[in-house]
Amino acid sequence: MKIDLTRFEVWFVTGSQQLYGDEILKAVAQHSQTIAGTLDAATAIPVRVLFKPVLVTPDAITAVCQAANNAPNCIGLITWCHTFSPAKMWINGLKQLRKPIAHLHTQFNRDLPWATIDMDFMNLNQAAHGDREHGFIMSRLRLNRKVVVGYWQAPAVQAQLGAWSRAAAAWHDWQGAKFARFGDNMREVAVTEGDKVSAQIQFGYSVNGFGVGDLVQRVKAASDREIDGAVAAYEAEYTLAPELRKKGAMRKSLREAARIEVGLRSFLQAGGFKGFTDTFDDLHGLVQLPGIASQRLMAAGYGFGAEGDWKTCALVRALKVMAAGLNGGTSFMEDYTYHLNPKRPVVLGSHMLEICPSLAKAKPSVEVHPLGIGGKAEPVRLVFDTPSGPAINASLVHMGNRYRMLVNEVEVVPPEQPLPKLPVARAVWIPKPNLPIGAAAWLYAGGAHHTGFSQAVTTEMIEDFAAMAGLELVVIDADTKIRQLKQELSWNEAAYGLRQGFGA
Ligand code: MN
Repeated sequence: MKIDLTRFEVWFVTGSQQLYGDEILKAVAQHSQTIAGTLDAATAIPVRVLFKPVLVTPDAITAVCQAANNAPNCIGLITWCHTFSPAKMWINGLKQLRKPIAHLHTQFNRDLPWATIDMDFMNLNQAAHGDREHGFIMSRLRLNRKVVVGYWQAPAVQAQLGAWSRAAAAWHDWQGAKFARFGDNMREVAVTEGDKVSAQIQFGYSVNGFGVGDLVQRVKAASDREIDGAVAAYEAEYTLAPELRKKGAMRKSLREAARIEVGLRSFLQAGGFKGFTDTFDDLHGLVQLPGIASQRLMAAGYGFGAEGDWKTCALVRALKVMAAGLNGGTSFMEDYTYHLNPKRPVVLGSHMLEICPSLAKAKPSVEVHPLGIGGKAEPVRLVFDTPSGPAINASLVHMGNRYRMLVNEVEVVPPEQPLPKLPVARAVWIPKPNLPIGAAAWLYAGGAHHTGFSQAVTTEMIEDFAAMAGLELVVIDADTKIRQLKQELSWNEAAYGLRQGFGA
């Protein structure tokens, strides 16, 4: 299940034409190879970057686009026009391309050789206008892509390509992904509902329901040896509350939680699922609501959504892919309760149980407490705090005629005081630009109470991902002003309503 981005590749594709003769084309190929090699080695770019032969004919362009579509590990193209590549040559290929594009607007030489520059140099190094022709045709085709401008060795340029490649990996990961739902939606809840057919058409993943009894069967089938293994992992990785330790009064609950984890994991593995939802409304046959099981499966890279929330489940999985190998955790999250002290209003984020321990600031503790809802036995859960620093909350909601992605940049802060009685993992944050404006913007935009929360994923990655998915994106950050946001939402309503009439 480990998410390994190094098995993905982006193809470095350079456009040119035959006009220039073999010598120039040879130099173009050499330069492209050098750039591709440097990007391949760049630590900011987590995927492979593969050089492809310079494209000088419409047939070659079409062939590379078709090959990219069919290459199982190719997650996108980086395109560049060192020289001039007449863009009508690209129409057929780009019309067929189904992988994301990053248009790298760069130049092989960083500096102008002021003293020696002549027309030969000008003819070789003409991305400044060659890429304009390239950009035009992609705009003319209404093609979503990322434009990255700057010198190819510059850290900022490589970082932008890195963010894009993480988004492209997550997008690739969604295609054909399967998510399992145990039980349906929490009764009467609106935002977690949705059209799974339209989601599959637009996003490429499928969501299917399973009777909780199918899961119970797997849970019952867990062997003592498997349960021992899970309990040993808890003892090695966390601090157990006294009553959960060997001979503790609640040791049986710990073993029951481990049994649920073993059963859930085996169900997901057997079905090739990348995430799951459950709901406390429907736990028939399960002794506890899965707590530590959901937490540890998220830490292993699975998406998760509580109360049947499959959209957030898929989103958490996408964030997990984008975040692979980066510092900082990623989790299912919920804006739970507020501290409205005007000195520094903050959000306390948490859930009933299911917060991913990738967020943990220190060694989590394993605890068992009553749940209060669901009518089941006391569930075992991991409890911890989240380290300070920047993070994002992302939400995907269905607006009836389209999906909307929201992202709110937040700053995680230490809790003002310890929370000794709070029996769940939590994070305390200040939404940008502040709680009143951030929360008002979120409410105007219809953002959900559930989110994907990450201290590794950036707004830039979400922005790139939204472009790949054809999603409306609403960003709430330090610059957000409510009056402007309300206008943006109103304009978006018109734009998305008219989009079909504009052609693709
Ligand atoms: Mn919830």
